[in-house]
This record gives sequence, structure tokens and C-alpha cells, in this order.
Amino acid sequence: MRLLLVEDDLLLVQALAPDLRRSGYALDHAADGREALFLGENEDYDIIVLDLGLPEMGGLEVLSRWRDAGLDMPVLILTARDSWTEKVEGLKAGADDYLTKPFHIEELLARLQALLRRSHGRSEKALRVNDIVLDEEHQQVSLDGNPAIALTGTEFRLLRYFMMNPGKLLSKARLTEHVYEQDFDRDSNVIEVYVRRLREKIGKERIETRRGQGYVFRG
Ligand code: CA
Repeated sequence: MRLLLVEDDLLLVQALAPDLRRSGYALDHAADGREALFLGENEDYDIIVLDLGLPEMGGLEVLSRWRDAGLDMPVLILTARDSWTEKVEGLKAGADDYLTKPFHIEELLARLQALLRRSHGRSEKALRVNDIVLDEEHQQVSLDGNPAIALTGTEFRLLRYFMMNPGKLLSKARLTEHVYEQDFDRDSNVIEVYVRRLREKIGKERIETRRGQGYVFRG
């Protein structure tokens, strides 16, 4: 899952980044409203965390412009304590959820997971496709009720993206984009290596190769 964190408080960014990465997000960061607007319009994010008090352009305006442009990725806004008007304005401008500062990282992670589940039309707690169940908290997978198998960080991100898009043709470029961060050297051969490792863990037939086009997750 690719996540854009828009926050001008760099200490907060430093505090959140390791936990977000550990939870399997490929993280991009914008420190002002203009950069956020640009990135949101030009990159394909699965979810965005948006602080409202930003230099250059306020978070509410950024959010309104994204929505006016037809962008519908889930957005969680960060609001100042005791400012109920910010929450109301944020929700009206198209936010999907909000969190008041200061907050616990666990709450942010739980809300992000809930938003992603909702945006992919799921209400269950674990991510499930047929007999494959992905435990997002412990980053492990179980097949057909068998004991869970541990996944590395990259395997987990890749499998989660596959499982959120079952039956869809996913190009290597798209997978790379959603599994790695902005400045990662996007060598698509790396995806082949991770697909092979995933197949060893979950079974070869579950990920179909479409030569020259990409992969289809069959579940
Ligand atoms: Ca701020």
C-alpha cells in the first residue's frame, strides 16, 4: 500500500515513519500543501494522511482540490485539539476520517487499516481471498486453515496488494509503485524475485503470469 504522509512537523514525521513502514506502507512524505497537492494529483496513492495546518497551502484547500479533480483515495485528516470546526470542515471537504493531535500511533494504524478495508469493500477484520487469510497485524498468511506462515516485509506488501486486487491484471510497474517508496530504484526484476518467493509460500498456481503484461492473483 502506498501512503502519502502530509505533515510539516518533521519530528512527528520521524516518529511515525518507522511504524508506518513496519506496518507495510510504502511511504512518501510532503511537508507543505503545494507539494502535497502535486503528489496527490500525480501519484497513485492507496491512502493519504493529511495534516490541515500546512505552509504554502492549507490542508483543507488541498483536499478540496483533490476531490474537485475527481480523486477518491481515502484521506484521513489530522486536526488540532479542540477544534471541532476543523473536523466538520474536513469531513465536508471530503475527508474519510480524522484524528485529533496528539494521538497514539496504534490508533492511526488501526484507522488506516479500517479505511483501506472499507475502500476495498471489506468489513472483515482479516484480509481474505478464498482460503487465503492474511493477518495484517502479524504479517503472516495462512492457507486453508493451516498454521500461519511468516512473510518478510516486502512479501507482505506484495501479497496484500495482490489480495486487495484479486482477478485484476497488475503490471510489474504498478506492483513496484505500490510496494516500494518513491525514491526506491524501481527495477521491475525485483518484483519477479518476490513473486517467485511468494509462490513458494502460497502455491505457484495462485499467481498467474501474463507474459509481457504482468500478473493476475487468483487466490
Ligand atoms: Ca501542521
